[in-house]
Amino acid sequence: MSKPMSRVYNFSAGPATLPLPVLDRIHEELYDYAGSGMSVMEISHRGPQFIALARASEARLRALMGISDDYAVLFLQGGAQLQFSAVPLNLLGDKTHADYVDTGSWSDKAIAEAKRYCQVNVVGSSKASAYFQIPDPKHWQVDPNAAYLHYTPNETIGGIEFHFVPKSPGVPLVADMSSTILSRPVDVSKFGLIYAGAQKNIGISGLTVVIVRRDLLGRAQAQLPSMLNYAVQLKGDSMANTVPTFAWYVADLVFQWLEEQGGLSSMALRNERKAKILYDCIDSSNFYASPVSPEARSWMNVAFTLADASLDSAFIEQAEGAGLSGLKGHRSVGGMRASIYNAMSEEGVQALVSFMQDFEQRLA
Ligand code: PMP
Repeated sequence: MSKPMSRVYNFSAGPATLPLPVLDRIHEELYDYAGSGMSVMEISHRGPQFIALARASEARLRALMGISDDYAVLFLQGGAQLQFSAVPLNLLGDKTHADYVDTGSWSDKAIAEAKRYCQVNVVGSSKASAYFQIPDPKHWQVDPNAAYLHYTPNETIGGIEFHFVPKSPGVPLVADMSSTILSRPVDVSKFGLIYAGAQKNIGISGLTVVIVRRDLLGRAQAQLPSMLNYAVQLKGDSMANTVPTFAWYVADLVFQWLEEQGGLSSMALRNERKAKILYDCIDSSNFYASPVSPEARSWMNVAFTLADASLDSAFIEQAEGAGLSGLKGHRSVGGMRASIYNAMSEEGVQALVSFMQDFEQRLA
């Protein structure tokens, strides 16, 4: 589907671009959701239409990701960062420490938050190499008595991604999949818990998905606020409090769109191809550079620099003029970042590459 003239290619890291067919469905159904005579934002989360949506969306996510019944799937509020606290508060049980891998800004923040509740052992860190690679798991000092091992499969800011699932013998593996979930198949059975904010590959902000192995439930500390307690949320079918209905609805539409695209294997092929187009453009030029080690380059967030940083603002301004939005790198690292989540078309990536080549020719 080609994009309407009025739309730009949106490379923002999140909230991020949505698939056009999803926007079209929202538009079509806005005044009357499922024959209710009301928009989905106006119906009760306990009414039959929303209950049906909630059940169907969970079933779709389970099928897309191959999530077995050993796992609970929760649709929560609070963003991925609330999970930085919810994870230790739910999983520590009688343990006093947890292992974390430090690969950049988001794992750093997860570590800082966990330190408020337990002793954190940083088992591996790529801080010394400015977070441009994955610390080699061979050297991780994983503790078999840790409550869990936490890592960030894709660092949205630095643009580094694990292209493998680390081993965590005997210890539940916990992953902040906010910026990589649904971009490729994963073997969920390797994980104790997966969480992700929705505003990248799931849909819009306001929703956080938690996939947790059922045997890890029931370890929460007594003083944990009930709404943060996974067991409480599971008992209430994620509806212990009023759910973010619109965000959940959009997630369901995205799941349907993913089914139509052929599921996560198809998305993986597409995402790998899109990333290659962009990294090939960067690598074949002396004007652009990727700071990230080739084996750790993200398929979702492509960070790159211009040889002459004084041209950064011209690049961003002219890209905006060419209908390419959201390319400015995160304020903490500078440079450029193109977020090319599932919903970014190959056409959009090609448009960016054409612009980059043209800019180089004119200004190098
Ligand atoms: N973790 C990762 C990997 C992220 O990319 C983000 C948001 N960009 C967050 C956590 C924080 O998400 P939220 O704003 O939903 O708390």
